[in-house]
Amino acid sequence: TQKIVLITGCSSGIGLALAVRIARDEKKRFMVYATMRNLAKKEALVEAAGCTLGRTLEIKQLDVCDENSIKACVKSLPRVDILISNAGMGMVGPIECRTIDEMKTVMDTNFFGLVRLMKEVLPDMKKRKSGHIVVISSVMGIQGILFNDIYAASKFAVEGFCESLAVQALRFNLNISLIEPGPVITEFERKAYEESLKIDLSKADKMTADMFHNIYLKNYKQIFESLGQTPEEVAEHTFKMITMKNPPFRHQTNSLYTPITTMKYADPNGDLPIGTFYKMVFEHDKVFTASLNFLKILRWRSRKSVTLGK
Ligand code: NAD
Repeated sequence: TQKIVLITGCSSGIGLALAVRIARDEKKRFMVYATMRNLAKKEALVEAAGCTLGRTLEIKQLDVCDENSIKACVKSLPRVDILISNAGMGMVGPIECRTIDEMKTVMDTNFFGLVRLMKEVLPDMKKRKSGHIVVISSVMGIQGILFNDIYAASKFAVEGFCESLAVQALRFNLNISLIEPGPVITEFERKAYEESLKIDLSKADKMTADMFHNIYLKNYKQIFESLGQTPEEVAEHTFKMITMKNPPFRHQTNSLYTPITTMKYADPNGDLPIGTFYKMVFEHDKVFTASLNFLKILRWRSRKSVTLGK
C-alpha cells in the first residue's frame, strides 16, 4: 500500500521540490498531499508536478496558522503516514527595528505551525504505532546567526520541541527527523532580503544600523552564493530520509556547513562559535571573503556528486 505524505508550504522552494520529488518516486510508493496556504499560488506546483498530478500528487489548502484549516485538511485524508512540516518564514534585522507583532508572526508560523500540525496528526500515529514526522528546521535551529535573532529562536523552539517529543515517539515506534539545511536559494532568501531593505533603521543606533547595512547585508548575499544549495538538493536528502529504515533524528544537508555547526559541540562553554563568528564578521573581512570564494569552488566541484552521507 502507498504511504500517505502530507507536506506544508508547497507553493514554492523546498516544499514544492519535495512534493514533486516524492510524487515522482519510480516505485510509486507514496501518495503526496501537497498543501499551501493560498491555492491561487498553485501554478508553479501544477507545472512542476506534470503528469503526477491526480495520480501520486494532489494539491490541498492548509494554513499552518489556522487550526481549522489543518483539521479540515487532515480529516479529508484517510490517514497520514509521513508528515513533512516545511512551511516557514524568515526574518532578519535589528530587534529595535521590528515590532513584537512581526516577531509573533514568525513564531506563530515556524513554531506553533508545527505544534498545531502535531496535535492533529500525532494521536492517530500513536494509535497505529506507525508514522514519520519530518521537520524542515535549519542550521539556525542549533546555532544563532547575527541579525537572525527571532528566526533562530523560532527554529531553536522547533528543535527543543522535537527533541522532547522524540523520546515519547520512540515508545510508540514513531520516527521524528529534523532536516537542517544551511543556506538554500529560494523565495525565502529573496523575501528576507527584500524585506530587510525596507527596515526602518532609524530606530537603531548608528553602530547597529551600520553593522546591519554594511556588514550583514553585504556578507549575506555572498554566503548564499558560496554555500547555497538548491531546493532540489534539500529535497533529495529529505527523500532519502523518508525511505530509510532507521532515519536519524538530525540531518544536515550541507556538508560544507558542518565545520561551522561542529564548533558548538567542540566547546561546551559556547565561546568558540561566538568568538569565531565575531572574528569572521568584524576582524577578518578579507579572510572571510577568501574562504567563501574557496568554498564556492568546492561547492561547484562537488555539486554533481552530493549525496546523503558523503
Ligand atoms: P519559501 O519561502 O520558498 O517557502 C516557504 C513556504 O511556506 C512558502 O510557500 C510559503 O507560502 C509557505 N508558508 C508561509 N506561511 C505559511 C502558512 N501560514 N501556512 C502555510 N504555508 C505557509 O522558502 P523555503 O526556503 O522553501 O522554506 C521552506 C522551509 O525551509 C522553511 O521552514 C525555512 O525556514 C526552511 N529553511 C530555509 C532555508 C533557506 O535558506 N531558504 C534554510 C534552512 C531552512
